[in-house]
Amino acid sequence: MADTDDQKVLFYDPELCSGCSYCMLACSYEHFKVLDYELSNLWIYPDPQRPFYYIGIHCSHCDDPICKAACPADAIIKGEDGIVNIDQNKCIGCRSCNIMCPISVPWKNLERRVSFKCDFCKGDPKCAKFCPTGAITVKTRKEARELANKLILKVEAKKK
Ligand code: SF4
Ligand code: SF4
Ligand code: SF4
Repeated sequence: MADTDDQKVLFYDPELCSGCSYCMLACSYEHFKVLDYELSNLWIYPDPQRPFYYIGIHCSHCDDPICKAACPADAIIKGEDGIVNIDQNKCIGCRSCNIMCPISVPWKNLERRVSFKCDFCKGDPKCAKFCPTGAITVKTRKEARELANKLILKVEAKKK
């Protein structure tokens, strides 16, 4: 498996997000061929604590994914590239993964009765590709960690 520091992940920067939600539509179109916010594997919503800011929720493709550990059907796979995927042929729709994930990423498609989550679009995430402001980008985990630390320091400094 790739070194965890080198693994490609999504990085969301709230300082750059306009809240347009194009990323959600691009995600639903990639996976379901329809433009439907309800079918997106990532979520952008208004930050209740900061007017005009947004919060982005997306899978971190964790090093030791608790969603995988929680799955009773062995339907969750962490691939050689580090990407965490759900095998819908094995999924029984129990939602244990959603309950255990710290940010409740896997969601249940009620029509298909199985769960879905970010699959990193075969290495070319469409949310990042179609974000007009560069608020979602593909970074290595090491880069994302460093950028996140800088963002935290910036937010803390603004509070003073
Ligand atoms: S496409 Fe980019 S700017 Fe628009 S909501 Fe998504 S992350 Fe924010
Ligand atoms: S679904 Fe949640 S627990 Fe699983 S890899 Fe993504 S962020 Fe981690
Ligand atoms: S909903 Fe599917 S992927 Fe999630 S824990 Fe249950 S069987 Fe596994």
